[in-house]
Amino acid sequence: MPLHIKTPLLASSALSLAAGRSIALKMEALQPSGSFKLRGIGHACEHYKARGAQRFISSSGGNAGLAVAYAGRALAVPVTVVVPETTPLRARQLLDLEGAEVIVHGASWQEANERAQSMIGTADAFIHPFDNPLLWEGHASMIDEVAESGARPDAVVLTVGGGGLLSGVVEGLQRNGWGDVPVVAVETRGAASLGAAAAAGERVTLDAITTIATSLGAKQICARAFALLGQHPIRPVQVSDAEALDACARFLDDHRVLVEPACGASLALAYGAANILAPFNTVLMIVCGGSTMSLAQMQDWQQRAS
Ligand SMILES: *Cc1c(COP(=O)(O)O)cnc(C)c1O
Repeated sequence: MPLHIKTPLLASSALSLAAGRSIALKMEALQPSGSFKLRGIGHACEHYKARGAQRFISSSGGNAGLAVAYAGRALAVPVTVVVPETTPLRARQLLDLEGAEVIVHGASWQEANERAQSMIGTADAFIHPFDNPLLWEGHASMIDEVAESGARPDAVVLTVGGGGLLSGVVEGLQRNGWGDVPVVAVETRGAASLGAAAAAGERVTLDAITTIATSLGAKQICARAFALLGQHPIRPVQVSDAEALDACARFLDDHRVLVEPACGASLALAYGAANILAPFNTVLMIVCGGSTMSLAQMQDWQQRAS
């Protein structure tokens, strides 16, 4: 039994109307940990447990850390998550709720991650948030589920942080005979590490991350995601934070599901006048989720923006 659930595949009247084409939603926001991350991380954690891991270590205060905490609890393996001081209280509380040991260390993620790395003992498994083939293999299961439904999309829309979701979805497309289905890979402008790599023809390290879509805030995409740029039709596209946030608010009204801006960035292509979708009649959107989002947080961002 995998740790993730099979999520609904919804034909969205509201988004289809807004986009002027048929939009189907893969509802990864409904995973028990709140995001798609549980697919790959659950798969990796099961793998490491079977090889005798006695503890899982993560340095993510976001959806990856939460997925590790959920997986550890489900597998009865202790979890330690090292997060920087900047991690919002709500994220720490959610990790507590899943029974993870939370260590707060350092001013930035780099420092927290260094501490986490220094703690890894021989019986520990470090769970990377995006750069691990086991994660991609697990994420690919969301495309298996779409393929079982028989509905082949003309394109898939997803967001990119470090590129784990992208790598997994492409793996899923390829293993289901859909290797020619293009992927529209969305980032917010303040976290466009894929866009920068595509433009430069090599992996680029961004100087800074300036976006409210913190789950997209990897300064560099993983090598696998970069390699896929040359092997699969991938169209990088960028949206503003305001567009991502507005999409979250509209999606809440349309589907009664609250997602974070890292997910709203994809939905923004349906709500906006994005001609990037013009060539496609049927579009699959990965509603990747986000568990640290709250109504108060959304309203706070909206006020700051106005
Ligand atoms: C992790 C995450 C992403 C980005 O995934 P990567 O594998 O880092 O590219 C996007 N949206 C949400 C909600 C996430 O948790």
